[in-house]
Amino acid sequence: MSRALLAFAVFIAAALPVGTQSQKLKVHISVDMEGIAGVVTGDQIGPSGFEYGRFREFMTREAMAAVTAAREAGATEIVVADSHGNGENLLIEQFPPDVRIVRSWPRRLQMMAGIDETFDAAVFIGYHSSTTNPAGVRAHTFSSATLTRVALNGVEMTEGAWNAAIAGHFGVPVVMISGDDAAVAEVRKVVGPIEGAETKRSLGFHSALTLTPQAAIDLIGPRVKAGLARRAELKPYRPQGPVTVEVSFKHYMPAEVLAYLPMFERTASHTVRFRAKDMVEASSVMEFVGEYRPDLAP
Ligand SMILES: [Zn+2]
Repeated sequence: MSRALLAFAVFIAAALPVGTQSQKLKVHISVDMEGIAGVVTGDQIGPSGFEYGRFREFMTREAMAAVTAAREAGATEIVVADSHGNGENLLIEQFPPDVRIVRSWPRRLQMMAGIDETFDAAVFIGYHSSTTNPAGVRAHTFSSATLTRVALNGVEMTEGAWNAAIAGHFGVPVVMISGDDAAVAEVRKVVGPIEGAETKRSLGFHSALTLTPQAAIDLIGPRVKAGLARRAELKPYRPQGPVTVEVSFKHYMPAEVLAYLPMFERTASHTVRFRAKDMVEASSVMEFVGEYRPDLAP
């Protein structure tokens, strides 16, 4: 670089506002429904449930509480991933125009679709505990109908821990989780001391002592802000790659048929194991395992 050019570059650098780079704050918010305040049974969480219409509204308001808190904490870009059931639950017209929303399935990165290495923090709203946890409202991992266990490098996974590992692949820390007490405790045990908002206390698979929707919103906002304030100290959750995943099915047949593919080893009657080079590949395999049907249409 010539001396004149160097002087010009120094002048331009000095003229730029201080901290322009560090002012970027991209936040990914993954939203499930079982951990929303008041949710206890199928009556709230699917289109055929008699309370679903109202609970979509409550789910949207809890997600919006996280969005509002993130914006107040300085978020410059927010992606919200609708990650429950059909992926078409959130009332998207209630979000500010600069928020982007991920909808429906199948999709790469599953409940974390939309995240990449440019993000600074991840937030989980409405999460539930895992299929191997005896506690928690509607406890399951990815599919209550088909899976009984998912383990990553030998560690039993809740959806929150699995999704934290996807965020961790991109160097993004999870800073906050909301859901019932079992869900919050289970993710913290694997991921570390992130902020938590307990929307209800689980009394069983289909019962809870719950906050009201407004009380849950009032709890979520401050915890999101606290998590974002601590994002530098909260380390991304990064299992050492390559990763080994074990999946146990409710029925024999998926394990038998998947084992026709050389990448799957059948380790027990209901269980297969596969290796992936990283969490992105592991996530794609799990999305395939959950979504593939020979009669897929369109
Ligand atoms: Zn769900």
